Order: sequence, then C-alpha cells, then structure tokens
Amino acid sequence: MTSLSPEVYAARIASIQDRIDGACREANRSPDDVTLIVVSKFHPAEVVRALYAAGVKDFGENRHQEAMQKAADVEDLDLRWHFVGQLQTKKARQAARYAHAIHSIDRIGLVDALAKLDSPDGEPFGRTLDAFIQVNMTADEGRGGVEPSDLEALAERVLETPVLALRGIMAVAPLGEEPAAAFERLRSYSDRLRTVSPAATDISAGMTHDFEEALLHGATHLRIGTAITGKRPEPN
Ligand SMILES: *Cc1c(COP(=O)(O)O)cnc(C)c1O
Repeated sequence: MTSLSPEVYAARIASIQDRIDGACREANRSPDDVTLIVVSKFHPAEVVRALYAAGVKDFGENRHQEAMQKAADVEDLDLRWHFVGQLQTKKARQAARYAHAIHSIDRIGLVDALAKLDSPDGEPFGRTLDAFIQVNMTADEGRGGVEPSDLEALAERVLETPVLALRGIMAVAPLGEEPAAAFERLRSYSDRLRTVSPAATDISAGMTHDFEEALLHGATHLRIGTAITGKRPEPN
C-alpha cells in the first residue's frame, strides 16, 4: 500500500488546521491569510491524489526530476506546485513549466535563467510565476538561500523580470537557533524586502515542528510535510 485513504489525510489536515486556527487567534490574524502547502516529496503520485481528494490544492516538492514526473502523473488534477528546494540554473525553465511558485530564488543566475522564459524566439510563457526569495539563515554558505547582505540586489533583479511576480521571502529556520528568534530575524528580512517591493508581503516559513511559532511571527505560507503525509519513504 503506497497511500493512505483520503479520510485519514482529511483527519490529519483538520487537526493541523485546528492548530493553525489556534495560532492565528493568538496572533490576532485571520487563518484566511494563511496558505497551507503540503510537501509531498519522496511520496508517490497516489499520495498526491489521495491528498487532493482530501481537499489539498497546494503541493510542495524539493527535487526537480521527481517533481516534474509527479506533476505529469497528476496532470488531470487542478492543483498548484510550489518548488521549495535548491534549483539548478539549467533546470529552471523546465521547473517553471509545472510550477505555480518557486520559493527558492537565491541567486541572480537563477533569475536570469527564468527571465529567458519570455524570450522572443520561444513559445510565449503566457503567465507569471510566483517568486519567493530564499534567505540563508545559517552560517554555512553552501545551504540554499541568498546571503542576507545580498537580499536587496537580488530583489531588484527579480523586479526587473516581468515573468516573475515577487511575493515575498522564504527560509528554513536553522536548527541551532530558537525558532522565535529565527522567525523574528526572518521578519526583519521581510521588512527590508518590502522597502524594495512594498507588495512582496508574503513569508514562506514554518514546517511540521515549528509552524505555530512561524505563524506567531508572520508566516503566510506554511510548508508542512510529515505531520500530514506521515514519515517519508527513502528517496530513490
Ligand atoms: C521537506 C521540506 C519541508 C517539510 O518538512 P516537514 O518537516 O516534513 O514538515 C518544508 N520545507 C522545505 C524546504 C522542505 O524541503
């Protein structure tokens, strides 16, 4: 058996939604302003189908090959793919074909690759792609995300790219930092981003173990995997 029934997923989602509602009450925010993205990475397309039957419309993936295959397998469903992992420049245009949003914009080369979606000699792209700038909140430069000092320059490049609609900021909270402190720091990056682009108000943050804390500090897009899908199978 590769997938649980839609009823099981619906019950898990209802319990996560209760916790979202509770955190929103505490933060004096409306749950309507929160998008729940269910991260389906490493799970087969049948799990996506069952989650969809349980009402999920937004799905997250972090590896291009896997995401592209899964998107093709469920092409008949009316859902949105959010790409949340590190994206190679040479895969950027392919990812844009199935993605509704890319949460991991972290360098100018990637923006320039996506800009070519609109190239005059190709098929017209015909829509915009939602873009989140990922900031690296760790001291390790090899992790995904732009260094905070380069945030404004990258945002300006995104704004110059008509095919990208800059929505906001994204990060994975680092393990060695109190979640509250990390999410406050992320909010300060969001403030800086909004001085460059006032409309870029979204904050993509919060996973299974820290989403309530993220909501208390302004997260608008939660990326939740295991709390809804259960333990992930080994990637292949
Ligand atoms: C896997 C993943 C998630 C979901 O993680 P869980 O702990 O399973 O909720 C969220 N964001 C990113 C970038 C991920 O790679």
